[in-house]
Amino acid sequence: MFRTRFAPSPTGELHLGGAWTALASWTLARRARGQFVLRTEDLDGPRTIAGAAAQIVDDLRWLGLDWEEGPDVSGPHEPYAQSERSAHYERALATLQEQHMLYPCDCSRAEIAQVASAPHEGEAVYPGLCRDRDPRRPMKRPPAWRVRVPDRIVHFIDELRGPQTESLREQTGDFVLKRGDGLYAYQLAVVVDDAAMGITHVVRGDDLLASTARQIFLFEALSLSVPRFLHLPLVLGPTGERLAKRNPVMTISGLRGAGIAANAIVGKLACGLGLRESDAPVAANDMVKDLNQWRWRAEPWKTPATW
Ligand code: GLU
Repeated sequence: MFRTRFAPSPTGELHLGGAWTALASWTLARRARGQFVLRTEDLDGPRTIAGAAAQIVDDLRWLGLDWEEGPDVSGPHEPYAQSERSAHYERALATLQEQHMLYPCDCSRAEIAQVASAPHEGEAVYPGLCRDRDPRRPMKRPPAWRVRVPDRIVHFIDELRGPQTESLREQTGDFVLKRGDGLYAYQLAVVVDDAAMGITHVVRGDDLLASTARQIFLFEALSLSVPRFLHLPLVLGPTGERLAKRNPVMTISGLRGAGIAANAIVGKLACGLGLRESDAPVAANDMVKDLNQWRWRAEPWKTPATW
């Protein structure tokens, strides 16, 4: 069964970038007569905003999207909120632990930064300080758990970007799966959940392209089947600036409040994605019905200054 998902973090309102990803992922599932899953990625408790998850559900429905499984409709793979799925993540950690792939790390950010090579995509490459530590050495702080990455190049084909390669050792180093404060890392949770929920196609923004090699490595280490990946170009503001979550005209509820119709937003997003030529208003369901051949657009899309 062809299954895609949308996995928003409820750290703010649904903005146009989220709606863009959701529409693309939903369209692929509907087009393939597959299923679409909504999953709330609320692992980062302190950054989660009360009520944001419910607002995202409401905005997605207002846009005309629907899903077979999700936090508000339940389904065979519940729960659909990551904050309730710790048992799954613990089991995955235990599997890796049995293979001696994990080790505790009490390095501070400053210690890592001192020896780390040039940061990749804003993240420092972990230089392996705790990889071979003497287990008798006391921990300076509650440790994070890192996974040992092999000296290996991961190859994959992105459905939009084409062939990709990444050296785990050189570009990320051993990465964190559980933080010292007990939070599970995105990289672990997303892999465990995409596998558990039977996701066959991961559709998401370009900003996560650099995470994909780590995730493929984890799928394989956990003997889980690796989905296909499609990374969409970013959505920019009208003058080409990065979308700020706080800018109300860029949020779906801001546009709703300004009286913009859902069909107008769907029409513009679908055209920006390359799903249709015209950017005229259209209902999401009608857009899928009319969809024949399309070509994803690879370049970033600037949101219109006026709707
Ligand atoms: N929760 C992530 C976000 O909102 C998306 C993760 C993913 O699609 O893999 O940015």
